[in-house]
Amino acid sequence: MPVTVHHGVDSFREACEAVRRGGRRLGLVPTMGALHEGHQALVREAARRSDVVAVTIFVNPTQFGPTEDLDRYPRDLEGDVAKCQAAGAELVFAPAAAAIYPAGERTRVRVDGLSTHLCGRSRPVHFEGVATVVTKLFAVAGPCVAVFGRKDYQQLRVVERLARDLLLPIEVVGHPTVREADGLALSSRNAYLSASERATALAIPRALAAAVRRFAGGERAVAALREPVIVSLGAAGLRVDYVDLATADTVQPLPEGGTAPAEALLAVAAFAGATRLIDNVVLGVDPEPAGSGAP
Ligand code: AMP
Repeated sequence: MPVTVHHGVDSFREACEAVRRGGRRLGLVPTMGALHEGHQALVREAARRSDVVAVTIFVNPTQFGPTEDLDRYPRDLEGDVAKCQAAGAELVFAPAAAAIYPAGERTRVRVDGLSTHLCGRSRPVHFEGVATVVTKLFAVAGPCVAVFGRKDYQQLRVVERLARDLLLPIEVVGHPTVREADGLALSSRNAYLSASERATALAIPRALAAAVRRFAGGERAVAALREPVIVSLGAAGLRVDYVDLATADTVQPLPEGGTAPAEALLAVAAFAGATRLIDNVVLGVDPEPAGSGAP
């Protein structure tokens, strides 16, 4: 089935309604484009849970801070459409910014308590932008199952919360992080990395894997789980933005002198050169990032 690309809000909304009128379930995969195998895995997951999958491709300006990479974020609509088709999507929604943010717009969605820690600390407007655009995409697509990656773990929790709080008819599903064979989490921003930065970035999955092993070995002290990660990222030449241990459900950082519960989010953001990379594991749930145990 060839992919149909919609640029207008009304035509995409009508296509989504036509899916449901036909008695079929809609799957939704919101993205910013520059698609990779991680996004394609979300499309395949959505296809397993629905009859027709729609991918949205929109580089959302409101989730970027003033000094961030909005202008140079990679864009390749033609390549993305081919990848959507290969993964089994039938609809693509690629709106212009003016279609999503009509002239005179003033409305923002803020999810209190989930948006200020971890990535929210260094990216203060980020989750408000994410919550706003995802709410708009849900409003256009209508009832569906929406698949998000656990690579952006805090984002997934924000989206789950807003769907529940705003009584939206959307089932939100999380999908495990897809990694390269050597353990590096796939990201559109990996395209920015030089060969040496790419090698340096491998310290992230390696440090997470070591923490998974420490946790499996019985370590529960928050400081003893966090600090080796900070040290190994720094030793590799990465600039740490944060390394936090947090509650897995509400993403609240655990006190440094405290003890980790049976399941705890270990989340990392670090710069390789100018490129900010994020990754995480849920200790007590996730396996070691694949391939990262190798010397
Ligand atoms: P993005 O285009 O980076 O905004 O991501 C769109 C969706 O793809 C989000 O739900 C991300 O969490 C998800 N995603 C991005 N990278 C990965 C990955 N390596 N594995 C799984 N999901 C991912």
